[in-house]
Amino acid sequence: MKRILILGSTGSIGKNTLKLAKEFKDEFRIAGLTAHSNIDLLQKQIEEFNPPAVVVSDRQNAKILEDRIGRQCEILYGEEGLIEIAQRNNYDILLSAIVGFAGLKPTIESIKLGKRIALANKETLVVAGELIIELANKYNSEIIPVDSEHSAIFQCLQGESKKEIEKIILTASGGPFLNRDKADFENVTIEEALNHPNWNMGNKITIDSATMMNKGLEVIEAYWLFGLPKDRIEVLIHPQSVIHSMVALRDGSIKAQLSSPDMKLPILYALTYPERLNYDGVKTDFKKIAQLTFFEPDFNKFVCLKLAYDSIDMGGIAPCILNAANELAVEKFLSGKIKFSQIPVLIEDALNNLYEDSDLSLDTIESYDQKTRNYINNRYK
Ligand code: NAD
Ligand code: MG
Repeated sequence: MKRILILGSTGSIGKNTLKLAKEFKDEFRIAGLTAHSNIDLLQKQIEEFNPPAVVVSDRQNAKILEDRIGRQCEILYGEEGLIEIAQRNNYDILLSAIVGFAGLKPTIESIKLGKRIALANKETLVVAGELIIELANKYNSEIIPVDSEHSAIFQCLQGESKKEIEKIILTASGGPFLNRDKADFENVTIEEALNHPNWNMGNKITIDSATMMNKGLEVIEAYWLFGLPKDRIEVLIHPQSVIHSMVALRDGSIKAQLSSPDMKLPILYALTYPERLNYDGVKTDFKKIAQLTFFEPDFNKFVCLKLAYDSIDMGGIAPCILNAANELAVEKFLSGKIKFSQIPVLIEDALNNLYEDSDLSLDTIESYDQKTRNYINNRYK
């Protein structure tokens, strides 16, 4: 029986994880759940999974929840609550599925306890990759990717050592605007951008998929997870999202991992690795898929993807600035304050004006995250 602490249980990844916990009652027990503000759903999850403790965003939500459920479970709140629940030694696996920078600190606490991290929150590796890998080595914490591309690569690398890898091929659906003119990006509506062709995900990652920043963040994620230089991490457009990624080996062989697109598979693997469970919840029928196609990404059109690669070259604090500017740009697009076409403009502006040489402690990372948010907020009201 594995005990799982889910950070972000009311999100798309969190809900899929709970579906698996329900399916495999004898394998998994829920050691804790956290939600930002959807306390209605959290309440249902508490009733169904009976966790000893939960976390919500603030005191007010904690109070509302307490009035509803009484002493059924402990209710913590705020960033302190997230850190405290992660520091408790009552779980085996942290499923890190908060969206954005907010996932970083509790994930670090769990690494310090040497827990397995089933990592969906890619932003953690983007902003603090070097620190995270260092800490994971120091505290013997296994980081198992939940992101489908990285799970695919991780699976392809079983039985291979690093010296055999020629390159990693990260596949990308291309998102909803693969065939739309760049000149027309100005007119993209929020509804169009939220309409992903293959995946049903949270709003932030869905917009990231539309700008292809998601793939950019994934290149940085792969850079830290697999320790390869950026010119050996290639992006390939594959609109069907059936091949989740590939690894080219030095003898010319290529390994790939395939299935119908469904996040339950990489989540399950991160929970059970190195074993697998009998599961028939995801069906893949090649007769229905019929064809798999591939082509090169257009870096001119998807500027965010280029900026992410550039930030690896800049190094240091650059990916943290890129991430913070992107989080804010997405928020502003979703609230109607900027156009879709402005998202990369804001990010480039922040990178050009805020980047400087600096050490990479958690303190500097937090301070640049904040600095970037202030900068963008002041310039694009
Ligand atoms: P989501 O928006 O559906 O859910 C986010 C979760 O985080 C919710 O439970 C929400 O309550 C919580 N949350 C949001 N802001 C918070 C804050 N400031 N403090 C504390 N909690 C907060 O997002 P998602 O699609 O489930 O994605 C979660 C993470 O997994 C992201 O980093 C995303 O990039 C990554 N990911 C998601 C998918 C997918 O298919 N959804 C695939 C790969 C990777
Ligand atoms: Mg992915």
